[in-house]
Amino acid sequence: MARLIEDLMRPDGRVALVTGGGEGIGAAISHFLADAGADVMVTDVNGDTAERTVASIRGEGGRATAMQLDVTDPASLETAFNEVERRVGLVTVLINNAGIFPICRFAESSAELFDRTMSVNLRAAFLCSRLAAAQMGMAGGAILNIASIEAERPSFPGLSHYGAAKAGMIGLTRHLAYELGPQGIRVNALLPGTIDTPGARRCGGAMDADQLEAANRFIPVGRSGHSGDVAAAALFMVSPAASYISGQCLAIDGGQSVS
Ligand code: NDP
Repeated sequence: MARLIEDLMRPDGRVALVTGGGEGIGAAISHFLADAGADVMVTDVNGDTAERTVASIRGEGGRATAMQLDVTDPASLETAFNEVERRVGLVTVLINNAGIFPICRFAESSAELFDRTMSVNLRAAFLCSRLAAAQMGMAGGAILNIASIEAERPSFPGLSHYGAAKAGMIGLTRHLAYELGPQGIRVNALLPGTIDTPGARRCGGAMDADQLEAANRFIPVGRSGHSGDVAAAALFMVSPAASYISGQCLAIDGGQSVS
């Protein structure tokens, strides 16, 4: 029985690429994937934090490589995917995690803010998925998009640009699942709720106490989430245990979206 569970939770294939893996949810997913036996390419716009994640994975006996990568730069993305193929092999698991969440009231927002948010949070997932699908070919693989419950239900003001990008990610997930299914590629999304990460703390700093309280007040399980809550679901979604799941969006929110 232990063997069966072990096999079911081993990530599809061997090589996983995680964007924004230097901190928070991406770092936790990188750890979980490596722990389950994947060779993980930890990428981040901040090369130092990517190195830190990798050092910690290696310290626990896992296989990982760090790479500085800004997901808004298409040329760098192409170079990165070629580099991964050269160094560790064809990508079989892609985690589109890199994201920014600048809080800005709609009246004060701008075209620049919208474009930047779209570029990191949505366009990058589109571009990375194209490159990953090309490497996966007909051998199949798994793509997982880290969206947000904000895509479907706003919890506080100042995130219209973010919610639009994350809603786009859900559309992208469903369309890619439909189109790439015949290649054996499964595409799913996780919708985290309030997860305590460095990024969320920085963003929390931009909120006043009332907004913070409003964001955390009605979490049915009685706590905000931690990165491991999302990473556990991510590992499941890219493992053989989820081999008949594609095109789905799973909220990891302690029940927030139904409260
Ligand atoms: P963090 O800010 O803690 O981590 C995100 C990582 O992505 C950081 O290391 C960041 O680097 C990196 N990053 C930012 N911009 C780029 C870029 N252009 N290219 C590559 N890497 C980049 O955020 P979280 O872990 O909280 O968030 C991870 C994902 O989860 C995001 O997509 C977010 O929208 C989503 N999410 C998070 C929730 C939460 O409550 N925490 C809730 C719902 C969704 P740097 O720090 O140097 O900018």
